[in-house]
Amino acid sequence: MKIETQCLHEGYTPKNGEPRVMPIVQSTTYVYDSTDDIAAVFDDPTKSLIYSRFENPTTDCVEKKIAALEGGVAAMCTSSGQAASLLSILNICEAGDSFIACASIYGGTINLFGYTLKKMGIECIWVDHDCTEEELNAAFKDNTKAVFGETLANPALTVLDIEMWAKAAHAHGVPLIIDNTFATPILCRPIEWGADIVIHSTSKYMDGHAVQVGGVIVDSGKFDWTSGKFPCMTEPDESYHGIVYTKQYSFAPYIVKARMQLMRDFGCYPAANSSFLLNLGLETLAVRMKRYCENALKVAEYIKSTGKAETVTYPALEGSKGHELAKKYLPNGTSGVISFSVKGGRTTAVKFMDSLKLASNEVHVADIRTCVLHPASATHRQLSDEQLVAAGIDGGLIRLSVGLENVDDIIEDLKAAFESI
Ligand SMILES: *Cc1c(COP(=O)(O)O)cnc(C)c1O
Repeated sequence: MKIETQCLHEGYTPKNGEPRVMPIVQSTTYVYDSTDDIAAVFDDPTKSLIYSRFENPTTDCVEKKIAALEGGVAAMCTSSGQAASLLSILNICEAGDSFIACASIYGGTINLFGYTLKKMGIECIWVDHDCTEEELNAAFKDNTKAVFGETLANPALTVLDIEMWAKAAHAHGVPLIIDNTFATPILCRPIEWGADIVIHSTSKYMDGHAVQVGGVIVDSGKFDWTSGKFPCMTEPDESYHGIVYTKQYSFAPYIVKARMQLMRDFGCYPAANSSFLLNLGLETLAVRMKRYCENALKVAEYIKSTGKAETVTYPALEGSKGHELAKKYLPNGTSGVISFSVKGGRTTAVKFMDSLKLASNEVHVADIRTCVLHPASATHRQLSDEQLVAAGIDGGLIRLSVGLENVDDIIEDLKAAFESI
């Protein structure tokens, strides 16, 4: 199946007389005929359902669909994108380990990696997104267990050289984890470029309608965990009557471990209702991504043409930062998100944003409706002007998430706001 068809048909195929639409199974638990049946379920929990803290039939359909879209072998949904980032690291790193992360990633992930994981004894080694191969290789330590980056970073919109980062990770015997939230599998499939694990905040384009917060982790099934560097995969798991993940579950040991160990213990699993809503978004993902890209390119060209922006970052736009890498990794477009800096700095940016009528001011991105955010007043509010500059965010910077309205209406709205400044 082509990806548009997969969006509609993967994960759920009704049999004779069954519902056309994937049903919502809103049940915490599952019934068995006998004690022996339950015992058998515990012996191999991948065969039948136990409890909705870590598995559910509705969510299972969505997991299968997303695994197929990314070209992976298995997936596990989480109750937020943050939970997906956290578990993707905790599944292979423990106190005393380190991992490498690209410095240009989502702010919430920077807090999680730089502060919270540090308190848990896991060190994050930051590397610039535009480092050379030598610089990247030099960042590895003996205890480094993973490498992490974002295909198209939120909010900097830098494009990661996935192939180069995968090569460095593999040369050191560790997996590359890619957050593919902004690109979605419609615009880029990181596994095809060498990524081993792909994660998402499904709250963004995958859902698209701003109706559920969620995340997902996808296992490519390609990484060899048996080098000796990952005893957590190759030694018996005492917390699960001695299961050896790479032996019993060699098809997707990473996801089976994440579910049976971490999800069992942390329980950050989505509700069936949320998975149902996420699936509605996934059904139209391919159609929506195409339109987001078309609209955003026209809007980026318009903003540039006004001469009122200091910078316009939209990697699909000729001359934008990241254009060369985008041609390779995101040939069909770079999502609906544009960042631009209005001439006149913070006060002008605020005046511009407050003059918008169609585009709404909100802490969200990748929605079906056009929305804007002023990072200096919101997500990066605690920073001084000097700190903002260091973080690559100047006071005039605006993040615009172009939606699916008629593009002429979006441009009309921006035009009126430009005239007001
Ligand atoms: C929003 C976001 C997250 C966090 O996801 P939540 O669903 O908000 O927890 C992680 N990564 C990226 C790239 C994001 O945009």
